[in-house]
Amino acid sequence: MHLRCVDCGERHPPALLYACARCGGVLEVAGESGLAAPADPSLRDSMWRDAARLGVLEARHIVSMGEGQTPMRRAPRLEAALPGFRGEIWLKDETRNPSGSFKDRLVSAGLSKALELGARGVVCASSGNAGASTAAYAARAGVPAVIVVPAHTPAGKVTQIAAHGAVLLLVEGHYSRSYDLARGLAERHGFANLTTTFLNPWAVDALKLAGLEIMERLGGVAPDAVLVPTGSGPLVKGVAQGLGLAGAAARLVAVQAAGCAPIVRAFEAGEAAVTAWDMPRTIASGISDPLIGYERDGTYTLRLVRNSGGLAVAVEDDALRRAMRDLARLEGVYAEPTGASPVAALRQMLAAGQLAPEARVVCMITGHGFKDGAAFAEMPARTHRVADPEDLAAVARLCDHALAEKD
Ligand SMILES: [Zn+2]
Repeated sequence: MHLRCVDCGERHPPALLYACARCGGVLEVAGESGLAAPADPSLRDSMWRDAARLGVLEARHIVSMGEGQTPMRRAPRLEAALPGFRGEIWLKDETRNPSGSFKDRLVSAGLSKALELGARGVVCASSGNAGASTAAYAARAGVPAVIVVPAHTPAGKVTQIAAHGAVLLLVEGHYSRSYDLARGLAERHGFANLTTTFLNPWAVDALKLAGLEIMERLGGVAPDAVLVPTGSGPLVKGVAQGLGLAGAAARLVAVQAAGCAPIVRAFEAGEAAVTAWDMPRTIASGISDPLIGYERDGTYTLRLVRNSGGLAVAVEDDALRRAMRDLARLEGVYAEPTGASPVAALRQMLAAGQLAPEARVVCMITGHGFKDGAAFAEMPARTHRVADPEDLAAVARLCDHALAEKD
């Protein structure tokens, strides 16, 4: 097992390394630990069932709370709500991870490996979810954590990070400023950096299991497309890699918010490289990443998308709100704006003829609605105050009226 640069192919020893020493490129884990399946039943109910495929060499270093192996279900009412659609929509429900987002996969793997390599603490720059995950897993492991997030991060995420006792630094401005500060702090304190862009190869490596889980759920038959909410894009890589390990492939669709879409811009312009986005403006905090200073991450994701025959799609905030409502009201899934973005993209791609009406697609629902309740609170709802609960007839009339309302 070693680290390999995805750009120049240079090999590096298995260590806490965050970029290729020769060219500065993204590193990935090459090889697998071959670790025996853990005897602990609680680990067998997590992604560590497949410990052999991950990078940790000794089971005693594993920090787990039941991450991965998330449910994947058909969405029949959502399918029926899309005009002309005759295919299948599958929701990979990553909200069901311990801290409410797919970041738990990265953090469990990254933290476990960091401890094995001797780290005494962790730093993480985050738009919220990775920070909440890192804070939770650090608490579980009993190691100090410093989390750096933009000052405008949704309250639900900030509260979650603080609850776990992490040192929380709120930084004015966009995410890339938090990213830079975390790099400096990790170096200064000698802490491992669990920032979940492509920075930590041990963390990103675990996302391939999400792709493998998709194939297992679909009985070994590849979907036509997998739609992935995309900031810098590690989950795009994970899905591609996992499908590949199962001998399959699918079109990868990188979904970004129209207010922060550096990868989509490069895709549509036919560019070979991604350039940074100036000023992100979107309600989708989880993918509000301008990539300033690590544009290469975006370029790598762009390459993966193109190689798969897929595309990059930008969705407006109003389309995100509609997708959140669709998921919540048609399928009972409560997702934050970023988590609903694949559903917004799906509607848009069908309307634009970018997806066959009989396609079988998987939507990665990456983050829980609890994390950004304000995004739902701003939407119309069928909520009424009851002044006199003893007047049953009046309340029943109110309900009749409300139940008859059309959406
Ligand atoms: Zn390199």
